Amino acid sequence: MNTFDSPLTALKRGNWFKLICGASYQHLPAIRNLTLAYTLAGADCIDVAADPAVITATTQALNQAESLGKQAQTLGFGYRYRPWLMVSLNDGEDPHFRKAQFEATACPDSCWRPCETVCPTGAIAFSQIKSGVIDELCYGCGRCIPICPANLISARSYVFRPDEMLPLVLQTGIDALEIHTQVGRERDFQRLWNSIQPHLEKLKLVSISCPDGDDVVEYLKTLSEMITPLNCPLIWQTDGRPMSGDIGAGTTLASVKLCQKILVANLPGYVQLAGGTNDYTIAKLKSLGLLQSTVQSPVINAVFPNPDRPTQTIGGKRKRLRSINSSHRVAGVAYGSYARVLLSPIWEKLESLSTPEINMGTFDQDEIITRKHQPLIQENMFTLVETSHCGSRLETNPELLWQAVGKASTLVSQIKSVISE
Ligand code: SF4
Ligand code: SF4
Repeated sequence: MNTFDSPLTALKRGNWFKLICGASYQHLPAIRNLTLAYTLAGADCIDVAADPAVITATTQALNQAESLGKQAQTLGFGYRYRPWLMVSLNDGEDPHFRKAQFEATACPDSCWRPCETVCPTGAIAFSQIKSGVIDELCYGCGRCIPICPANLISARSYVFRPDEMLPLVLQTGIDALEIHTQVGRERDFQRLWNSIQPHLEKLKLVSISCPDGDDVVEYLKTLSEMITPLNCPLIWQTDGRPMSGDIGAGTTLASVKLCQKILVANLPGYVQLAGGTNDYTIAKLKSLGLLQSTVQSPVINAVFPNPDRPTQTIGGKRKRLRSINSSHRVAGVAYGSYARVLLSPIWEKLESLSTPEINMGTFDQDEIITRKHQPLIQENMFTLVETSHCGSRLETNPELLWQAVGKASTLVSQIKSVISE
């Protein structure tokens, strides 16, 4: 291992792997276990909600991973260094920053509860303990909203309040901030940026996440001018089809398409995919020549034709190839819902071995108190969590721990193995 390796090296190499736990996801045991498994598998960054309790749980997992790192390396897993801890903020309404809600007493007895079936995190429950949405488990994907035949489900959005929340978040020692924005929000972005700017020296990285839209390139160029000069690395996160990577392979296409647009725009900074990413993403990027190991790209050539370059038959058509420079290559990929679903079978096994009652996870009383007294995202966020996904600490079961790391490695290694270390 090169002692100078760091997450920044991975960005430069083009093999950066980010785990997205979810800007609204607050299930502490699940976040802790996901962080531990993906860190030991070699993740470069862990992206979590701007909630001190979530940040604390993530930090504990990172500490735990450091103590298991040597063992992971001995077993052949990809752990190399402590990943950067990133927190996501928003400058306006955004699907990543919302929770579903409904009044379960209004549900007709005849309803077959499709909301419960469609929810990928088990956030909808009907029991004597809790009926409705379990806030901690909801990450705002919105799949339950259109499926309700009685139209009872709505979304509750929230916007980050920088003046009161930013100092609290920064004092936790995070490494990076991500700003979620959308085309047309210049003023909102500027307002949030003005609050962040005095704290930039504490950060190792800033990321700007934006979905596709008309004039997205022009919008991002405007943001680029707003934040210049910037004394730390910058990522443009192409949020193709938000929170959808577990739905099917094709969800990755929207992110790849947006990524191509942004690469061609040649904005200063690294370009990293998200929003619909899954185990098809690397294969797709590879086939398009967008990874750093690929030296020739027919796609880029479509924008920068060069008649002196050789040609190759691709999809039955003769295309001219062109060498690409690093600014036209992807720096990394972030995975959210797909990464979470990949480990679900492990959490089910872990759950079956833990107490089948109301389960707070095995968190210290201190952590619970921290959570109770710092409800940053909304009031009364702290609720009892019915027995659900991965309530126990993963490291207490070494067999399941290394199974989880092995599963996580199947995803992390895709980008790590494409580009030689
Ligand atoms: S389907 Fe999505 S939005 Fe609805 S409760 Fe589940 S996680 Fe929340
Ligand atoms: S789908 Fe709608 S009506 Fe049916 S159980 Fe869910 S929230 Fe209630």
